[in-house]
Amino acid sequence: MKLFDLDGRVAVITGGNAGIGLGMAKGLAAAGAAVVIAGQRAERNAEAARAIETLGGNAVALDVDVCDEKSCWSLLERAVERFGRVDILVNNAGTAIRKQPETYTLAEWTNVMDTNLTGAFLCAQAAYPHLLRGGGGKIVNIGSMFSLFGASHAVPYAASKGGIVQMTKALACAWAKDNIQVNAILPGWIDTPLTQTARMEVPGLHERVLARSPAGRWGEPQDLAGVAVFLASSASDFITGAAIPVDGGYSAQG
Ligand code: NDP
Repeated sequence: MKLFDLDGRVAVITGGNAGIGLGMAKGLAAAGAAVVIAGQRAERNAEAARAIETLGGNAVALDVDVCDEKSCWSLLERAVERFGRVDILVNNAGTAIRKQPETYTLAEWTNVMDTNLTGAFLCAQAAYPHLLRGGGGKIVNIGSMFSLFGASHAVPYAASKGGIVQMTKALACAWAKDNIQVNAILPGWIDTPLTQTARMEVPGLHERVLARSPAGRWGEPQDLAGVAVFLASSASDFITGAAIPVDGGYSAQG
């Protein structure tokens, strides 16, 4: 069965040096893809790439700030210089600032929107010519449960993640003619550095997530690996514009 085989493919994962991004990068590498780990912190990128190589994968570390347009274009160019092609882009870099809506500064709003939404768009634009050259490709955008639900304590985060779903649909419609499939993953509550901070800042969050999740547990970064491989592989060639919850049933619970 070759449907899920990523041999010969090259994947760029923004925010691939930690948490969910690293979980997906490990899955893509295990399926045969060469992976580019791209985050701001060079040391953590290198550490993540080494971890993947230790597992038998092929990985390189490249720095990027997805808030910076030139940096996004440079990332894709350096990935192609290194591996000769890019077939898969995973827009996973993300950040959150939790506070009451009336207290955000414009700079805080802009930082979250630029990292989570505009950065994903810029990387998609930068990937497009390379995907075209390869005859098509896959873009996987990372949304959130707050793509679906409101978040009283994280308004710009929810706005950016809602935007990810609509951007995914719009890009899917635009680039289907180019054999580029664009889909979103909506992770539930996953145990990562991001949510470790959230659990410290939001009293009772840990217990509320457990109580609402039919699976009865928080997710782990590796829970995202299978869906990432699926959406990156030819198994999903007729799926585009979708937003798939990977949440242990959290969003199914009334
Ligand atoms: P982490 O905080 O563990 O990882 C965030 C990653 O994003 C890091 O690798 C970080 O690397 C990178 N990053 C942040 N800002 C930038 C930037 N400007 N340019 C490039 N890279 C950047 O978070 P998670 O693993 O939890 O989250 C990953 C994604 O999943 C995010 O989009 C998040 O919103 C989403 N998500 C997470 C959920 C969860 O429960 N954990 C639930 C739903 C969605 P560096 O610091 O080196 O730049």
